[in-house]
Amino acid sequence: MTTFNDLGLDPKVVRAVTEAGYETPTPIQAGAIPAALQGRDVLGIAQTGTGKTASFTLPMITLLAKGRARARMPRSLVLCPTRELAAQVAENFDTYAQHVKLTKALLIGGVSFKEQDTLIDKGVDVLIATPGRLLDHFERGKLLLTGVQIMVVDEADRMLDMGFIPDIERIFSLTPFTRQTLFFSATMAPEIERITNTFLSAPERVEVARQATASETITQEVVMVRASRRDKAASEKRAVLRALIDREGTACKNAIVFCNRKTEVDIVAKSLAKYGYDAAPIHGDLEQSQRTRTLDSFRAGTLRFLVASDVAARGLDIPDVSHVFNFDVPTHSEDYVHRIGRTGRAGKSGKAIMICSTSDEKYLGFIEKLIAKDIPRAENPLGTTESRQAVDSADVEAASENEKKPRRSRGGRGRSKMADASANETQAVAEKSETEASVAEAPAQDAPREEAPRRGPSAGRSARGREDGPVGLGDHLPSFIAKSFEERMSR
Ligand code: AMP
Repeated sequence: MTTFNDLGLDPKVVRAVTEAGYETPTPIQAGAIPAALQGRDVLGIAQTGTGKTASFTLPMITLLAKGRARARMPRSLVLCPTRELAAQVAENFDTYAQHVKLTKALLIGGVSFKEQDTLIDKGVDVLIATPGRLLDHFERGKLLLTGVQIMVVDEADRMLDMGFIPDIERIFSLTPFTRQTLFFSATMAPEIERITNTFLSAPERVEVARQATASETITQEVVMVRASRRDKAASEKRAVLRALIDREGTACKNAIVFCNRKTEVDIVAKSLAKYGYDAAPIHGDLEQSQRTRTLDSFRAGTLRFLVASDVAARGLDIPDVSHVFNFDVPTHSEDYVHRIGRTGRAGKSGKAIMICSTSDEKYLGFIEKLIAKDIPRAENPLGTTESRQAVDSADVEAASENEKKPRRSRGGRGRSKMADASANETQAVAEKSETEASVAEAPAQDAPREEAPRRGPSAGRSARGREDGPVGLGDHLPSFIAKSFEERMSR
């Protein structure tokens, strides 16, 4: 059996790996490390959980241990689609390079430019970045990429989903033609194939089994729900989610709840919290410090429910997650595989439960085709009638107000998604205010009756007089709007 000693790594790197507790290289490591150490390009088709991060960090550290960094000219570059993934890669470098003297900088949105500028000015061996932030630095003339000897593209398929491919192509063209490229993707979409054909030179192709086929430890089920009315669909689904969590009881130690949209992430997290579930959201529009805090507490086991978007949770290595709830059926079938792969890791058992509305049935079909099996149907724990009754009727109108509210257009596909990773600051601020607006309304929408007293048909108008109240909000008046009117009345 291959050991880390057989791979040709620097003994100091092997020592760090042994101290990290790894005994044998994973298949992607055994395949990629020797080729990378020979200076060859590597095309790794593997997803998170396979040990792919070490498959590029270990040879990089070995290769970079010789030589020294020059001011403003990083010697290697690792591109990641999200801040969290970049931060995780940086942690990996810290672990494996602890006996080797290497400098690194992390260029991600939400971290001050100044601090990173100082590091880069001094010269770094490893620069870990999200594409947008890297190009921001480059355009400000703070960085030269002509000294890059090794370039890593991590999670290329997610880069494609996020519209980063033009940025990646530009970054490739800014680095020397002679660089070594280590390129990782969970899947090989035609666009990814094109990039690898253009920018990689005779790569060693290392492909490891997809997680979908290896996930026997995950029990999957899907609960079909039919909304009583279209405008009640989301709040009825939230009631089903709570019932499913209750049904799982203490077996549900912790869970990631996935939603398709960032606004939904906020609403579901607020709603769960209002009903007394220990939940917090994570998505790209939140402050970096808040994202870090939330993730840390989820990892530490002090937060039970992490409500997440695909992008924010992508690639995160959280070893011990008992459940994954898919609040929505993902529209990209691949995302289903990534989502459920957050549980049942390292041989532990896990459970993945998905809620499927009538309108999402076709996506469920695509998923079942991809994983080549039918996901067992489970009973709706509320039954059909009860799930409708479980929704507080006072909340329904407010929820539908929010759900029907037209969302501001955010430009082209790529750019809007970019804010989920390394944000263009202005856009991030604009998007943040959009999110905050929906968050502000969220508690009232889904709150239990005792927490959000219903404003009856006459309550608002007779108390304040119709002309003093806002027009067009129906019977429900969100509390933050009511406050401004009450202030006006009391003057
Ligand atoms: P990754 O696919 O890079 O996200 O890694 C998934 C997890 O596997 C991380 O928690 C790593 O610390 C762990 N890991 C990486 N390589 C090995 C190895 N050879 N043996 C055991 N665990 C590993």
